[in-house]
Amino acid sequence: MKDNVKSEKIRCDACPVMCYIADGNSGACDRYANHAGELIRLDPLTIIQSGHDVVPFLDEGTSEDWDGDIIKGKRKFLTAVGAGTTYPDYKPAPFIASQEVEGVDMVTVVTEGIFSYCGVKVKIDTDRHMGQERDVVFADGEPIGHVTTSEYGSKMLSLGGVEHLTGGSKKEGRVTCDALLRLCNREAVTMVIGELEHATEVIVEAGKPPIINGETEHLMRVGCGSATIGMFPKQWIGLVDDVVVVDDHITGVLSEHETGKTLDVPASGIKIKGRRSTPGRYFQVAEPGTGWGGTDIDDPLKILGPFNPKVAWEGLRLFMVSTTGEQFGYYELDADLLPQKKDVPEKLAASAQLIAENCEPSVCSVLFMGGAGGSLRAGVTENPVQLTRSVKDALTHVSCGGADAYVWPGGGITVMVDVLDMPTHSFGYVPTPALVAPIEFTLRVSDYSALGGHLDHMRSVDDINAGEARHVSQNPNAKNPMDRGNYRWKDKPE
Ligand code: SF4
Repeated sequence: MKDNVKSEKIRCDACPVMCYIADGNSGACDRYANHAGELIRLDPLTIIQSGHDVVPFLDEGTSEDWDGDIIKGKRKFLTAVGAGTTYPDYKPAPFIASQEVEGVDMVTVVTEGIFSYCGVKVKIDTDRHMGQERDVVFADGEPIGHVTTSEYGSKMLSLGGVEHLTGGSKKEGRVTCDALLRLCNREAVTMVIGELEHATEVIVEAGKPPIINGETEHLMRVGCGSATIGMFPKQWIGLVDDVVVVDDHITGVLSEHETGKTLDVPASGIKIKGRRSTPGRYFQVAEPGTGWGGTDIDDPLKILGPFNPKVAWEGLRLFMVSTTGEQFGYYELDADLLPQKKDVPEKLAASAQLIAENCEPSVCSVLFMGGAGGSLRAGVTENPVQLTRSVKDALTHVSCGGADAYVWPGGGITVMVDVLDMPTHSFGYVPTPALVAPIEFTLRVSDYSALGGHLDHMRSVDDINAGEARHVSQNPNAKNPMDRGNYRWKDKPE
C-alpha cells in the first residue's frame, strides 16, 4: 500500500529538497506540481516583446511598404521568469535559446537561479531617524539584516545574506527568506529596527513611500542644511536678518555661511548649539529623531543659545526652516534678545514652499543582490570560470528578468538589480531556504561556443514551446539585453 502511494508520486529534482509530489499537488515551494504524472512549472514563462525596433516615421525615411506596426514585436526575449531551475549544478540550463539579431547569431541562457547567497539593499528616502548604523532589523521577531551607512537624503538597510538565511536558527532563515521574497515581489513588509524603547516600525514597499511609526513619509530632503542655505538665499535677502536650516547632519546658518558672506549678510549674533564644522555649518545640533530635519526636536529654538548682545538687536528677524520645507517658523527678537514667534510673512512661507517643491517624493527602492554560483554557471558551460571571464570582458550580458543587472567588479558574478525594472512576480523561493531569482546570460553564439557552452542544448527561440507564456512589453527604463551597445564587439560584430 505504501509503495502504491509512493508510485503515484513523482519526484521534483529542481532543487535539493527533492519533493515527492502526489498527482494534483504542488511541491514545497508551490512552483512545481504533479499534473497527471507530469512535473510542471506552475508560473508561466515570461517573454518580453522587444519594443526597440521602432520603425521611423515617414518624414524620417520610412520605407513605403511599412506595414503599420510601429513596433516590430516579433522579436522575443525569453526571460528566466517561470523558466524553472536545474539541479544538480552540471545540468544545462532549462532554456538555451538562439536567435538572429541584426545579422548576429545570439544565444540567451535562461534559468531561475537558487540564491542561497543573496539579499536586498533597501534605500529609503527620508531624514527621519530609523535607527543607528548597525542596528538590527527584525521581521516577525527575527533578525533579518541591519541598518547600514546612510546616503544623501536616504537611509539604507542591508537585508538577508547567507548569515541570516542559513547562519541562524531555522526560523530566522525562513522569516528572512519570506521577507526578501515579499520585498522583491513588490509587497509591503513590516520591519522593526532596533529594540525596546529605541524600536522604530517601518513598512517598506518597493516604489512606495515608507511608513515610519505609522506616519507616511512624503518628501526626500532637498539637500543638507548647508546646501539649502546655498541654494535659496535670494528668497530671503531683504526679508529677514538671518536664516537657520535645521538638519540632523549639517545645520546651516545664513549670516555665518559663505553664502551669506558673499551676499553681504551682516552678522546677527546668533549662537547655535552643536559642533561647528566650518563657518555657518554645524553638526550634532540635536539628537536624531522624527522631528525637524531628522532631529528629535519639534521646537527649533531648542538649538539656539543666547544671542550675542554686542551684535544682535531688538527686532532682529529670524526664519527657521527644515530641509524639506515642511516645517518653518518666523521669529523676532524682543528687548531681551529672546526670539518671539510671529506670523510667518507670506513671502517667507512661499520660500518654504519652494524648498518643498524642490524635494523629490520619498520612495523605497529595493535592489536584489546575489552571486551567480554553481548551478547557474555550470548550467551555461562546462567550464564555469569562462563565463565569469566572458561577463567581465563584456562579451556576455547579464540580465534579471530582462532588466539591466549591475555586475560588481572583482571576482564572481555578483549582480544587483532594481526589482521595479523586472516583471511582476519574478521571484520565488525554495525551503532550503533560498530565494529563486531569474537570470539570463546573452552572448554571441560564436562566443558561447568558445567558452564551452552547452551547444547541443541550444534551440531556436521559435522552436521553444513556451506553453501558456506571459508576454510583457519591454520596460522602457531597461536596455534591450540583445542591444549590441551592451557588448564589447558593438562596432565589429564578427
Ligand atoms: S521545493 Fe520546489 S523546486 Fe524544490 S524539489 Fe520541492 S517542488 Fe521542486
